[in-house]
Amino acid sequence: MLRATLVKSGSIRLEETLNPEPGRGEVRVRLAMTGICGSDVHLFHKGRPEHDPLTIGHEGLGRIDKTGPDVNPGRTGERIVIEPNIPCMTCPECLSGRGNICRNKRIIGVTENGCLAEYVIVPDSFAWSIPDSISDTDAVTIEPAAVALSAINRSGASPGDTILVIGLGAIGLLITHIALAFGYRVLVVEISENKTKIAVDMGAIPVGKGLNHEEVAERICQTCQEESVKSVFECAGSGKTASMAIKVAPRGSEVILLGLSDKPASFIPMDLAKKGILVSTSLIYDHPSGYEKTIFLVQQGIIHPGFIVSRYFSLKESQKALEEASKGKESKIVISMQQ
Ligand SMILES: [Zn+2]
Ligand SMILES: [Zn+2]
Repeated sequence: MLRATLVKSGSIRLEETLNPEPGRGEVRVRLAMTGICGSDVHLFHKGRPEHDPLTIGHEGLGRIDKTGPDVNPGRTGERIVIEPNIPCMTCPECLSGRGNICRNKRIIGVTENGCLAEYVIVPDSFAWSIPDSISDTDAVTIEPAAVALSAINRSGASPGDTILVIGLGAIGLLITHIALAFGYRVLVVEISENKTKIAVDMGAIPVGKGLNHEEVAERICQTCQEESVKSVFECAGSGKTASMAIKVAPRGSEVILLGLSDKPASFIPMDLAKKGILVSTSLIYDHPSGYEKTIFLVQQGIIHPGFIVSRYFSLKESQKALEEASKGKESKIVISMQQ
């Protein structure tokens, strides 16, 4: 099979290799499409200096083409999406129902070979059957949609409430889309006019457009108070925007940090305490409920996450696709194996 492997920081190598074989409890998936995620871009730039080359990519859609021992062979041919985060189910976090922060978590495309390939191996119960009524683009975006849905479900806001979304990358756009579908009012802040337009066309209300950081913060602060924003979702993933999210949150509201910045953010504890702001985080989704709920909503036609897909590349163009994704202009790049 052909696979695209991360050999060092910023460098992908295409290689022909033997097809992987499914072990006990595993299935082999012939991939049709793989979405490129912000975390793939991060890994692409950082490289994995201490490790062997790895095939990255975790947002995979395909068909089961072979089953390992202890798996129902009748699954062969099933159209599936991959749930790439595999909690161990035995550590203290997993046992307390918080497998999303499992200390021994395996991640397809991060700790083991992933989906920028023609075939990938996944555990049987992490290959989710997808009905033909769901389009390829909606199916290949179920993973980021599960991230967005889980953040909304973990927040204290309810339909009818007003929320603020900071940063309209794939996750920010999906939170906006899902929240609007559920009947929330959604305010958005984003530098890119194109991405703001996508959100506004869906029914979101833009705030602080075209202003610099200090001015934006003040304007948003004011708007958040006037609009009684209940929850602020930080999806931009920089230290600055995390600081801004905490600063603009109005009295009695909460901030949910989902943008994964490795840079420090700052806040004034007294302001936070006096305003009674709750700061929490949301990492990925729970297994199995995250995928279950997301697939249900897509199947019912309540959400259509595929709208974020903005560009396609072939597997052979993986290097170029990751470079394009790094520019941050596309809301979702998808690698199509058939091209
Ligand atoms: Zn992802
Ligand atoms: Zn665990």
